[in-house]
Amino acid sequence: MPHSASSTIPRLPSIDTLLRHPASQPLLDRHGRDAVLATLRQLLDDLRDPARLGQLTSAELTAEVLTGRASERLARQNQSHIRRVFNLTGTVLHTNLGRALLPEEAIEAVQLAARYPLNLEFDLTTGKRGDRDDLIEGLIRELTGAEAVTVVNNNAAAVLLALNSLGARKEGIISRGELIEIGGAFRIPDIMARAGVRLHEIGTTNRTHARDYQAAIGPRTGLLMRVHCSNYSIQGFTTQVPTEELAQIAHQHDLPLLEDLGSGSLLDLTRWGLPAEPTVRQALADGADIVTFSGDKLLGGPQAGIIVGRKELIARIKKNPLKRALRVDKLTLAALEAVLGLYRNPDRLAERLPSLRLLTRPQEDIKAQAERLAPALATQLGAQWTVSVEPALGMIGSGSQPVARLPSAALCLRPLVSKRLRGRSLHVLERALRALPVPVLGRIDDDALWLDLRQLDDQAQWLAQLPELHLGVVTP
Ligand SMILES: *Cc1c(COP(=O)(O)O)cnc(C)c1O
Repeated sequence: MPHSASSTIPRLPSIDTLLRHPASQPLLDRHGRDAVLATLRQLLDDLRDPARLGQLTSAELTAEVLTGRASERLARQNQSHIRRVFNLTGTVLHTNLGRALLPEEAIEAVQLAARYPLNLEFDLTTGKRGDRDDLIEGLIRELTGAEAVTVVNNNAAAVLLALNSLGARKEGIISRGELIEIGGAFRIPDIMARAGVRLHEIGTTNRTHARDYQAAIGPRTGLLMRVHCSNYSIQGFTTQVPTEELAQIAHQHDLPLLEDLGSGSLLDLTRWGLPAEPTVRQALADGADIVTFSGDKLLGGPQAGIIVGRKELIARIKKNPLKRALRVDKLTLAALEAVLGLYRNPDRLAERLPSLRLLTRPQEDIKAQAERLAPALATQLGAQWTVSVEPALGMIGSGSQPVARLPSAALCLRPLVSKRLRGRSLHVLERALRALPVPVLGRIDDDALWLDLRQLDDQAQWLAQLPELHLGVVTP
C-alpha cells in the first residue's frame, strides 16, 4: 500500500484507549468488564478490514461512536431469547407459539409458587410427607368422574408412562386407523416400542371391527389402546368400534382399555357453539380404564399430561420409576389447579379462560376490530399495498378438530406490484412484521399476507408500534 495513502487513513483506537474513555464507564458498570472487553474486541475485529481499506472516516472511529456501537451490541446480547409475539396466524392453540394462554388466576398462582415455599409434597394436616398429585386430584376427580389421577410433564409422557406401566413386555392391540403421528416426533408405534409394549395392529386404516379386536386377543395381550385421531380425520366408508363396546371386549378378557384422548375437553364445547370434542368424563363413563390428555390444549392450562382412571391402575402407574422422571413441577401444578378451579363455574368459563374466550370470539366482533385498524395499517404501508378486511377461517390448533374452521376476519395485505415480484414483496413484509418490537406473525396465502385478528386483544400496543414498521424497497 503506498505510504501517502495509508498515512491519511484514520486508525482504529486501541482497546485500552476505549476502555479508559469515560463513555465506557456506564457500560462497565452495567455489563461487567469481561462482556465489555469481548464486545469491544469483536467490534474492532469487524472494523479492521473496512478501516484498512479506507472505508471509514475518522468521525466513525471516535471513542464515543465506538462505545455507542458496543453499547447497542451489548443491549442486543442481553435481550431475552423468549419474546412475546402477536399470534395473528388464525391458529389459536399454536404449538410453536406456546399453545394456551393462562388466565390471571393461574398467573397469580404461578407467582405465589415461584416466590414462596409451599406444601408441594407436604401434608399440612398430618405434618407428614405428601404427594404432589394430591394438590389437584380432588378437582380432577370432581370434573371428570375419575377414581384417581396423576399428572406428568405432557400428554406424550402420559401415554409413555401409562403404556409402560400397564403393558410392558406384553402386546398392545390398536387399530391401524389410530397409528398416528403428532408433530413429527410423537408417533404411536414409536412410543409403544419405547414403552416396551409390542404393537399388535389390527383392522385397516378406514375400518376396524369388534371381531378384529376379539380375534387379536390372546395370552400375550396386555392392553387395548384407543387413540383419538387428533390431527387427521377419516371420512367416508369407515367403521370404528365405539369406546363402550371396546371396553366391554377388554373387560371380558380382564384387560385394561387405555384411551389417549389428545385434547381431552372437560366440558361439552358445543354449548359454546364449538365443534364437538370427546370429553374425559364421557370416555371414562364409556368404560375406558385409563384416559390421558393434555393440559395446554382445549383445557386451556399449562403444559401437562393428565392421567385419570381406575384407582388400582393409577396406583401401578404412580409406582413406576419413570413417573419420577416425568413428573410436573410446582409452577405447573399451581397453574393447573387455578385453571381447573375455573371449570367449577362453567357459566363464566368463556369470559375467564383466555383460550375459550378467544375460540368463541364472534366473527362480527373481529370484523369490527379489523375495520377499525385497517386505515392506520394502510397509511403505514403506503401506496404499494392494499389493505382490505376479509372473512377468514381459523383453526383451533394442536390437533383439535383438524377439519373444523373458526369463522373469523382478517386484515388482508396485497402488494400492488407485478405478479413476478409479489412473492418477494410478501416475504419482505413478513420479515418487517417479525422485526417489530413485539413481532407480528400472520400467514401468506393466495398472494396476500393475512392477519387474522381473532387473537389481537392488545390493540393499543399493536397500533403503537406500527410507525416502526419499515419495508425495504423491493427491487427486481
Ligand atoms: C397432542 C397429542 C398428544 C401429545 O400431547 P402433548 O401434550 O403435546 O405431549 C398425544 N396424543 C394425542 C392424540 C394428541 O392429540
